[in-house]
This record gives sequence, C-alpha cells and structure tokens, in this order.
Amino acid sequence: MLTLIQNAEVFAPESLGRCNVLVAGAQILAVGQDNIDLAGDPLQVIDAGGRWLLPGFVDALTHPCGGGGEGGFGNRTPELEAADFIRAGVTSPVGALGTDSIVRSLDVLYGKVMELRAKGLSAWMYSGSYRIPPLTLTGDLARDMVLIDPVIGVGEVAISDHRSSQPTVQELRRLAADVHLGGTLSGKRGVVFLHLGDGQSGLGPIEDVLQGSELPRRLFYPTHINRNPDLLEQAIAYVKRGAFADITVSTTDELVQAGDTPALAALRAALEAGAPAEHLTLSSDAGGSLPLYQKGELVGLQSALPVAMLETLQSAMRDEPDLVQPSIAALSANPAAALGLVRKGRIAQGLDADLLLLDPASGELTDVMCQGRWLLREGVLQ
Ligand code: ZN
Repeated sequence: MLTLIQNAEVFAPESLGRCNVLVAGAQILAVGQDNIDLAGDPLQVIDAGGRWLLPGFVDALTHPCGGGGEGGFGNRTPELEAADFIRAGVTSPVGALGTDSIVRSLDVLYGKVMELRAKGLSAWMYSGSYRIPPLTLTGDLARDMVLIDPVIGVGEVAISDHRSSQPTVQELRRLAADVHLGGTLSGKRGVVFLHLGDGQSGLGPIEDVLQGSELPRRLFYPTHINRNPDLLEQAIAYVKRGAFADITVSTTDELVQAGDTPALAALRAALEAGAPAEHLTLSSDAGGSLPLYQKGELVGLQSALPVAMLETLQSAMRDEPDLVQPSIAALSANPAAALGLVRKGRIAQGLDADLLLLDPASGELTDVMCQGRWLLREGVLQ
C-alpha cells in the first residue's frame, strides 16, 4: 500500500523546501516538489461504505493441530485450517498443545503454526502442554523462547485440574523463571498461560508461586476463568491486582448448566465488579473438545471453533450493545498486550495492518487483511 505525505518541510538533511513524500511499505518511494502522480500505480482505494473497521482478533488459546483424545483415540478432534481463522476474523492465533502431549507433539504444532504463517496469518505458539516438566523443542524452555521465533511462552499448563501434573509450587516457580529468562533474552514479553480446572485450589497456586519470589505477576495469564462462579470471582480479584485473565468464549448449553458462565455474562460480571476492562481477554479454545450430550448422556465430543470469537461480538451487537466496545478490546488490544504482541491488536500508525471490515447491520465479517494482505474480500477467501 502507498502513503502520500503532502506539504511537509523536508530536510533530507539538505533543505528541500515544501515537498511531497511517498512511502510504500517500509520504504520512501519518491520525494518531490511537484505533485506526485499516482496514476497507474497500485493504489487501492477501498470504500468501506459505513462498515466497521476493527483490529484483527488475537486469540490467546487455539489448538490448531486438534485436541481432545480424552476418553480414547476416538475423541481426538481434527486440525484447524487457515480459513477457519480467517473467516472468524482471527489474524493472530496462538497455538497450544493441551491434555495430550503424547501422540501430539510440539514439532507438529510448530509445522502447523508455520503453515498458518505461510497462508498469511500471524500465528504464534506456546512450548509445553498441560504437563510439567514441560515438553520443549530444544530441550530447554528458555532456549525455545530465544531461538524459535513463534514461541512466546509456555502453555497451556494445567493447574487445579485432575488432568494436571499436580505441580508443586517450586516446579511452577522454576517454569515461570525459565519463561522470564527466555523473555528477557529474546525481547518477548514471556507468558505462562495457565489452564484452570475445576479444582478447589483455583488460582491459589499462582499466589503461592508469587509469594517469596521476584517473579512479576504479569507472567501468569490464566484461562477458563468462567469455568465456575468461584473461579470467576477469584479471577476478578486477580485482575484487579494488575494481571490479565482470559475468558473462554466456547461453551455449550450443557456446560452452562454445569456451572460455566457464558463469555459475555462473565465479561459483564467482571466489569461490574470493577475489574480493569483492558486486562480482560476472550479466547476461543478452538480445536479443543466440547462434550456432546444426548438426553443427559455423554455421546461424544465436538470441536470448538475460532468463529466463536466473532459470534461473541455478534451476540453483543445484537443483544448487549454496551458490551460491544469492551468485547472488541477483549478480542484484540487486550490479548495483544497480555502476550506482548506489540504490533498487533490496535489500529495505529506504525502497527501491522491487521484489519477487519464488519457490516454493523448483519454482523457479517466481509473483509480480513493481515499484514497488509487481503485474506478475505467481500466474503471471498483470497
Ligand atoms: Zn484448557
């Protein structure tokens, strides 16, 4: 895309007087006193026609290689495709392993993340899985963060869950120290992305780790905080202490009956309780498994999908307009800040051109641009 800066007093450093400067990508393309004629150049003009222009969504938890497998191999969920993310408006998915790190591996996850990048998305990943000691690509968590570009932390590490490694405080502390060191050396923010289960201890292990250590609270980024009312209450208090916490948008009627708070209700509860809006995030858990019931019997699993992100915004647009703005922030700028993706999640000068066009009447996502490249135009994948 071309940018024309008109009527600047230009010092190059010699004085050129009043000039026009044309910038293309990262380069100055032309400097001159005459009007720069753009006729014939690939200057694209888009008429948004009143549609909304939003930052591309940043999804802090996805399982692009699939997940599940609980209850046997028959319950494994399938891989996600780039189109699944693009049609959901997710331009920056973060991939993770989950419960299963035996027959799913970080090598395969890395390959999938690089495939998503090759197809135009800004994809990232966590090392590790539910388990401690963490699975790594290089044999060392800090090395993964320093040497492997898409690795931005460890996750989703399970705590307060029967499927976790039942980690000790010292094990969690050591894990976080490695992430902190890796982040310090690589210039990444570094994040310990924590899967929270229904266990009694809730967010308690994070406080135990922080007490008596020099680790910053911001390292610890818990998800599934809307899993039960107690955990949501704890997470609201946690966010008020200056950290980030993540609400899972994918749920089912059965999970809600079992205690899940739907994402928008959780967001509203947190805001009404005085949690800082900019520290609340929404993620899809796409590729993760959701239990499927018939007449109260577990009959299998279905797969969560990235489109739950877009559907959450559409639901706010339709039924809870006061939550539209906080939802957009929780889908974009807030997770970008939590993850340290400094070029993502906002529409501002110098940042990546990750943009969505949305029809406010229908809620339809019509266009998706990632890093200046159209991936969806007028509803058609490019
Ligand atoms: Zn999880």
